[in-house]
Amino acid sequence: MSIRLHNIGKHFGSGRQRTQALEPVNLDIHDGELVGLLGPSGSGKTTLLRIIAGLEHADPDGGARILFGERDVTNVHVRDRRIGFVFQHYALFRHMTVFDNVAFGLTVMPRRNRPTSGEIRARVHRLLEMVQLEQLAHRYPAQLSGGQQQRVSLARALALRPDVLLLDEPFGALDAKVRQDLRRWLRHLHDELGFTSLFVTHDQEEALELSDRVAVMSNGRIEQIDTPDAVYRSPANHFVFEFLGDVNHLEGEVRDGTLTCGEARLSVELPDGSEELLLRPHEVRLAEAPTPEAHLPVTVTAISPVGAEVRVELTADWLGEPWLATVRHADYERLGLSRGQRLYAIPRRWHRFPDASPAPALSPLARAA
Ligand code: ADP
Ligand code: MG
Repeated sequence: MSIRLHNIGKHFGSGRQRTQALEPVNLDIHDGELVGLLGPSGSGKTTLLRIIAGLEHADPDGGARILFGERDVTNVHVRDRRIGFVFQHYALFRHMTVFDNVAFGLTVMPRRNRPTSGEIRARVHRLLEMVQLEQLAHRYPAQLSGGQQQRVSLARALALRPDVLLLDEPFGALDAKVRQDLRRWLRHLHDELGFTSLFVTHDQEEALELSDRVAVMSNGRIEQIDTPDAVYRSPANHFVFEFLGDVNHLEGEVRDGTLTCGEARLSVELPDGSEELLLRPHEVRLAEAPTPEAHLPVTVTAISPVGAEVRVELTADWLGEPWLATVRHADYERLGLSRGQRLYAIPRRWHRFPDASPAPALSPLARAA
């Protein structure tokens, strides 16, 4: 079921208390797609999700329209939108077993379209099987871990065979390992059952890993909507770039093709004036000597060799705040990295987002690569 949002704006309050939670938002979600809404706290994610659900109404005077497939649901009650919900705080019924929680939506359906009790039992068992909780069907929520409770929430949301599944920070309260597992669950169920999902998170990694497309929000606005790869590699603006990962800043003055910042120098093909260059940690190479193009002396202050790459924290007089470089384990060993070591940072590429230019600019190095 596709979802089309047209001019969804939202203000809360009135008079001097009136605040804008959403600028008019337009968004098309394709049938069967899993879209991640990613943004910092307060950027309007929950508000947008609640409006799609019908729990909240868009500003009435903005020509807001919500279409599910061809059906205009703008004024359709939440009960009739065929939506499944999962929230951060697993609002399971504490006095009901896992089985009864999942069956609940089915048992309260009007008699004329309610499945028989045999059908309900079969459907609930099938769902519990999918989230691998059949063994725990007779437990109560308090007897489950957080991750298990959230799987029950997922099964419960799917019991009514919704066309659309809306999830608001569903894994936010869980620890990292459990979150990983649940992401896989969600992706698997989504693909197997073929519904359309909209998934809110403030976690970049989660959004990039799970989504077919990511909508990056800030201040009630969608800054960019694109595939994870595209938002990461071709961020539309400074905000998106900063929000999607660790960033190193190099601010200085350009004169005759050289950017200078204290004792640091970097050759750049840019006009004279103030510049701010941005680099991801993996775009910083470490070397024992400077190059003719890059003279950026740094000192190693911390090393974390945990994971696929080694994270190295760097400081220098010319740096406002520490830099982070990620290097391969082989380079870590080759350079014999240790705390206090003096090295040179060599940018592999850099990015800049001058205010006046809407299009992102890449360093010449990157274009050549
Ligand atoms: P997010 O889910 O991205 O953290 P929200 O959609 O919850 O953001 O909030 C967006 C903005 O709208 C925030 O500034 C928030 O304070 C405001 N807001 C949300 N709900 C209400 C409400 N019921 N009344 C007043 N302001 C609200
Ligand atoms: Mg929220």
